Amino acid sequence: MLMNKLPTGILVFDIDGVINDKHTTEIKESILQKIDELCKKGYKVYFNTGRSMSYCVEMLFPKLQNYPNILAHKPFAMCEKGVVKVQYENGKIQHQVLEQYSVVKYTDELLKDLDVEFETFFRDTSKVSMITFEKKLGVNLDKFDIEIDHFTKLIQRNLNSFNLQNILTIEKTVIALDIQHKFSGKDLGAVEIVKEVESYLAKSDRENVSVFTFGDSPSDAAMAVHFASQNFVTTHVDVGAKASDRESSDYKTIVSKNTFEAGTEEFLELLILG
Ligand SMILES: [Mg+2]
Repeated sequence: MLMNKLPTGILVFDIDGVINDKHTTEIKESILQKIDELCKKGYKVYFNTGRSMSYCVEMLFPKLQNYPNILAHKPFAMCEKGVVKVQYENGKIQHQVLEQYSVVKYTDELLKDLDVEFETFFRDTSKVSMITFEKKLGVNLDKFDIEIDHFTKLIQRNLNSFNLQNILTIEKTVIALDIQHKFSGKDLGAVEIVKEVESYLAKSDRENVSVFTFGDSPSDAAMAVHFASQNFVTTHVDVGAKASDRESSDYKTIVSKNTFEAGTEEFLELLILG
């Protein structure tokens, strides 16, 4: 059943560098307070992250307990680049893995004949849909790069020999190597969020609802691209201060004056003031 009343707006947050402290990875209470205030005004809230489900279960959802207006909206997070949906309702956590985009079923092929003991990184087994290797704490970045680049070549060789190159892709970040589905990403998370929005908003009303996507990396703009393509009035709030090359006529981009969590807070304050 669709609601008669339109939501005031829709907020979609990347987590790392946007609503958490980059160093401790703790979600900022001051940001949750502002989101709670906006939910009271009728905003809906979603999270869209590359983080694992366990991060959301341990670090995000317990904190929401103190924010009744956020909880009232049955918040959910798309985790692992859109492949795992975690929903929080009445104190219970439910999750769903979009199996068609999970790549853990290829683990045996990818790691075939490979030594999986490493000096500078380890396998992050908390991921349920991706295969991730992460730098050990305190390890020198150059040493890590050399070892992981070598390992990446071996993985790539297995990927080719099992003919998986059309399904999987290998993405290296500063501190990790993700083996993931080609179609996973912030846009996949946005697709799932739009499906949820359809449960209370008619398609014909989309052009009357403002969506604000928040990110600190260039890849986060994929959320705005998707919402704009689905006829929402979309604004991307870039708190990473590097938006210059991503002008688009389909959605508006705002680069915050402050960066990271402080930038998110700055923009949420503006929204509260209306
Ligand atoms: Mg981020």
